[in-house]
Amino acid sequence: MAYVITQRCCNDASCVPECPVDCIRPTPEQPEFATTEQLYIDPDTCIDCGACVDACPVEAIFSEDDLTASLARFRDINATYFERHPLESNFDPLVTPVRPPKDLGTLRVAIVGAGPAACYSADELLRRADVEVEMFDRLPTPWGLVRAGVAPDHPGTKTVSGMFESAFRRETLQYHLNVEVGEHISHDELLAHHHAVIYAVGASTDRQLNVPGEDLPGSHSATEFVAWYNGHPDYADRTFDLSGERAVIVGNGNVALDVARVLTLDPDDLAKTDIADHALDALRASNIREVVVLGRRGPLQAAYTSPEFLALGYLKGIDVIIDPAELELDPESRALLDDPDIEPSLRLKYELAQEYAAKTPNPENKRIVFRYLASPTAVTGSEHVEGVEFVHNELYSDNGRLAARATDRTESVPASLVLRSIGYRGEPVADLPFDDAAGVVPNEHGRVVADAAHVPGVYVSGWIKRGPRGVIGSNRIDAQETVERLIDDFIAGKLAAPEGDRAALKALLAERQPDLVGREGWKAIDTAERSAGKSGGRPRVKLTTREDLLKAARG
Ligand code: SF4
Repeated sequence: MAYVITQRCCNDASCVPECPVDCIRPTPEQPEFATTEQLYIDPDTCIDCGACVDACPVEAIFSEDDLTASLARFRDINATYFERHPLESNFDPLVTPVRPPKDLGTLRVAIVGAGPAACYSADELLRRADVEVEMFDRLPTPWGLVRAGVAPDHPGTKTVSGMFESAFRRETLQYHLNVEVGEHISHDELLAHHHAVIYAVGASTDRQLNVPGEDLPGSHSATEFVAWYNGHPDYADRTFDLSGERAVIVGNGNVALDVARVLTLDPDDLAKTDIADHALDALRASNIREVVVLGRRGPLQAAYTSPEFLALGYLKGIDVIIDPAELELDPESRALLDDPDIEPSLRLKYELAQEYAAKTPNPENKRIVFRYLASPTAVTGSEHVEGVEFVHNELYSDNGRLAARATDRTESVPASLVLRSIGYRGEPVADLPFDDAAGVVPNEHGRVVADAAHVPGVYVSGWIKRGPRGVIGSNRIDAQETVERLIDDFIAGKLAAPEGDRAALKALLAERQPDLVGREGWKAIDTAERSAGKSGGRPRVKLTTREDLLKAARG
């Protein structure tokens, strides 16, 4: 018997150092780690000790005897990885990170943001130093995209917040929620009360299609739709027209798959999750029966990960539809597929698409239809979205990378809802430099850079540092890098001592934001939401307006 890592893997690699026989790969030190879809356990080496199970923050690891039908394939997926990447003993001996000497006193750090990048940064600081962490967020709730981005039918992924909750129990970390940096406290004031400030504010806007009709009613970003169904208070009053039978999603990453599932899942199944009640009501009245997912490049270059693509095949009452003609490959993609050294996850992506294409759909079922090599040229309609026109693409080699270019073949598909899911984008942060082309704050390994010099005491972590790439756990290694530099700078005496302490900060915030939500306020919100969910067998019923959240916070 061996243990198996499954679809939910968040890539944070917490399990890797726990394994007594070092059989989980890739490790953060390996180049493959940056692009891997998930981590894998070598079945021939695993000694079934179960140590990794306790370390996994998202409950993604199972004994192979306990795999459900929808996860059974991960036994082979884990084993196949090691056929391509035979297990070798790990290269670097573990290096114990340097702790700041005691005589430097307590390091005070402000973290702006309370999502995964902020939480991993805080967790790393708490492990590494005698530290006081002050965590700020503009919302009255913590956990960022774990709360407002992860799809409601993926509860395992949300369990990572439980890990943060228990790591942040001590008074060394204080929450300052419902506090907007730039409005209630300035960047300079943050610096005056801390040795350093880490901005972990994510990438909050979406990319535009830049095609005619994009702003028609019925055309939205997936970002808005995701925030709406997850009960983000800034999006609770949005409306989406679900009266038609077809929706089109432009883009085929994992967010597109989340949205396609939420649009087609049985609302009775969604009712067991923490989906926002307003979204559940709207989905109960929805007429959508088909979701078309458009991808710019071919099936081998699709942006979704193979575990998420595989999971679509187990959805009750939903068929995945792919026309076999969509899977004809250009010569370069064919050569890639025929290469015996191809990454197993890439081959799996194509094999899964072939399996879906070979299935006979059930006319009673709803449908998720994948179209490849398709780029929208217009969203059509006069008063409201009526369809999408798109052009067929072909692939060509652009400096060794297969890129898409338009052919003269066009097509249109009627639809009443269009959601664009073509990536997030970072926004400028007040008082910080900004790289507009990349949508990030310029930095070197997390140290913010302006005019070719490090900005003393200012750091970034997560998507605003590296761009919107990776999954939740990718932020752990990213945060370790930033915190490593911050602590090096503290030890080297490069961080100015704060003028104000925790008490001074508290007094300032009390004056500026009477509705600040602290630890007790968040606990009260959490308890209220969980209690409301109990009778319906749901993990929680989310409060979705600031007013309700603040009322609950006050107890
Ligand atoms: Fe390693 Fe034990 Fe997990 Fe197997 S069960 S991968 S031996 S930690």
